[in-house]
Amino acid sequence: MSSGSPTAIISPAAFPTSGASTADAGRNSLKRSRTPDTIAELQRRRGPEAVTVITQNVDGLHQRAGCIDVIELHGSLSKTRCTSIDCTSDPFDDWTVYDAPPPCPVCASPLRPAITLFNEMLSAEVDWKSKRALRDVDLFIAIGTSGMVWPAANFVRSAEYVGARTVYVNKEEAPTNSFHHEFIGAAEDLLPVLLG
Ligand SMILES: [Zn+2]
Repeated sequence: MSSGSPTAIISPAAFPTSGASTADAGRNSLKRSRTPDTIAELQRRRGPEAVTVITQNVDGLHQRAGCIDVIELHGSLSKTRCTSIDCTSDPFDDWTVYDAPPPCPVCASPLRPAITLFNEMLSAEVDWKSKRALRDVDLFIAIGTSGMVWPAANFVRSAEYVGARTVYVNKEEAPTNSFHHEFIGAAEDLLPVLLG
């Protein structure tokens, strides 16, 4: 990888398939992997303007490893928001595990984790940020994800359209041959070699 090359990294999918109870289980079961540390080290070396981290994770693993300006496609388990679209309350930091959705302090509607579920739209902010990152990229690396979940499924095609090299790192082979390079194996073993 050449110095200063804009790089976009999309990394592991760990996305809940249904509402608050699954999300709360996620809050209880955070695990550590060396992969976010390797990505954070790359971002420290190249600079955040050269390495953009886009994640399908909702558990803040990359931020805890030291990554900055992480684009969280599907929101964050560390925040809670109101379910009412008319409510004026803002999402707030919250690691509480609830037995049942508590009422919003402003409008009394149920609160929920500030994550995006499968049938919901991405936030306009993360949609715009990810598109901006992919508009100006010359190396795109997909790590630990099959890339089949929308909108990430389209990222490799966007990157290739602007002339980027595309790299796939995962334990399973890519479901399509969309990438220029495929590395099959554990990301935490392969990445230090590939990014070193
Ligand atoms: Zn509310």
